[in-house]
Amino acid sequence: MSGSHHAQQFAPPAALTAGPRTLIGLSRADLEAEIAALGEPAFRARQLWHWLYHRGATDFEAMTSLSKAFRARLATHFRVARPAIASAQISTDGTRKWLLRFPDGQEVETVFIPQEERGTLCISSQVGCTLTCRFCHTGTQRLVRNLSPAEIIGQIMLARDEVGEWPASSEDRKITNIVLMGMGEPLYNFENVAEAMKIAMDPEGLAFSRRKITLSTSGVVPAMARCGAELGVNLAVSLHAVHDDVRDVIVPLNKKYPIAQLLDACRAYPGTHNARRITFEYVMLRGVNDSAEDARTLVGLLKDIPAKVNLIPFNAWPGAPYECSRPADIAAFSDILFAAGVSAPVRTPRGRDILAACGQLKSASQRLKKSEREPAEVPA
Ligand code: SAH
Ligand code: SF4
Repeated sequence: MSGSHHAQQFAPPAALTAGPRTLIGLSRADLEAEIAALGEPAFRARQLWHWLYHRGATDFEAMTSLSKAFRARLATHFRVARPAIASAQISTDGTRKWLLRFPDGQEVETVFIPQEERGTLCISSQVGCTLTCRFCHTGTQRLVRNLSPAEIIGQIMLARDEVGEWPASSEDRKITNIVLMGMGEPLYNFENVAEAMKIAMDPEGLAFSRRKITLSTSGVVPAMARCGAELGVNLAVSLHAVHDDVRDVIVPLNKKYPIAQLLDACRAYPGTHNARRITFEYVMLRGVNDSAEDARTLVGLLKDIPAKVNLIPFNAWPGAPYECSRPADIAAFSDILFAAGVSAPVRTPRGRDILAACGQLKSASQRLKKSEREPAEVPA
């Protein structure tokens, strides 16, 4: 399916854009155009940008450097609302997770993972996912739509509200890194993701360096070059298998863009060198992709790519067709990679007590609602 066709088919419903429109998510140029249409000078747009993305103002009243009359006019035309929080949880390890609900009732999740030296915010790019990786619960959800730029950037802004870090200052930030590893395939919603990430990277906006942003893709080869050229963010690739016959099954997109093509696109990704490697994600599935031979083949595949590997213990969900690899097999796999000079840490599960792994919370909430409403129905 082509990118633009996909974008149209899965666009957010028109109802969302009716009524006062949100200013969040407009590019600087579009914001300036809106302000010019109200007959205001261009510097007002810049002030507004500062209030929105540096100060984190959630209503026009708070924007005290703007005249009262202008604030009132803005309020009749626009809104600056955040997504609504359907539920919020904090894990014993400090991981925080929000289930966000949009006006059409659709939900996505955002997860904040505080670590010693940094804090990573995992955001979603779509409601559900059109791809159907066999180990991924998001891929089993039938409803899919793209998130708008406002809904993507809104996740970061809401997290900043919640951890209390406005105005955006460069020191002592809690949220230091952004990863597009929540629900959805970001390269199937590239336009909106790009709009949102440009705001996230704007030095007078949310001011995240492109080196602090990582986009994770299951391997949408034609969009990878564009992502590198237009955004230049870090790339994570969900590889998960070293043989096409295995990857065809667990990541069906592989039938379209097989491993060799995917790795070629990785070699061509701009800015990749030893100090800025591509992360290869590898979910450990018992007896599927976790043998010593798989590990040695992986070393060979990555030989000429500045790479690091993230070994992810499979997070099982009810009805999942796989099991997580045995700890000893994961350790052996990691050892083979390290011995060959490839960094391959095992990702420690975070927020287990609140089901914080990407794709898990929303699934739990849906199952709950489903069983409450339709007790006879067997969950998919
Ligand atoms: N669609 C993108 C980004 C979202 S998925 C992608 O596939 O890369 C983010 C990561 O979580 C991917 O590496 C994905 O393979 C992994 N993942 C999905 N379900 C998982 C599960 N049940 N256990 C462990 N990792 C999982
Ligand atoms: Fe979609 Fe990523 Fe899940 Fe695959 S792993 S179904 S691409 S969200």
